[in-house]
Amino acid sequence: MLKAEATNLSPMFCPRCSALRDAKPISYDEDCEIHGVEFTFHVDAFECLTCGEELADPADPDLFRPMYDAYRAASGTLYPDEVKAIRQRSGLSQVAFATILGMSPATINRYEMGVPIAIKEDNLLRMAGIPSALRMLLRQRGHLLKPGQRPKA
Ligand SMILES: [Zn+2]
Repeated sequence: MLKAEATNLSPMFCPRCSALRDAKPISYDEDCEIHGVEFTFHVDAFECLTCGEELADPADPDLFRPMYDAYRAASGTLYPDEVKAIRQRSGLSQVAFATILGMSPATINRYEMGVPIAIKEDNLLRMAGIPSALRMLLRQRGHLLKPGQRPKA
């Protein structure tokens, strides 16, 4: 019996113990809220058997990704690659795209890197993906762009 349990253990580095410790896999559902949207996401992680610290799965070290993906699924908001694709289709740099949407370039960069997007901003980004809406935005705000920032089309 003990032997069977032991096969489930794998030594991992525990930051709280500052040492390699035996850890066991743990799995649970957690309730969460981001930008006012409530959702549940599934956590697969490990637990240090010495101190009880939760340790990230070394195969998936980004602890936030599963939470953010669950938020995107629950809220119907864009995935990072989709934000980037919309912007690239517009022919605009991150700075120029942010300028015509009235957002900061750092915000557009964060969205393309995977930070969750509130529904209000998601709506704006989706609108910018519609060619006629993008043309309207460029008519209204194109004068804010520097000459080199205008789309080539
Ligand atoms: Zn520990």
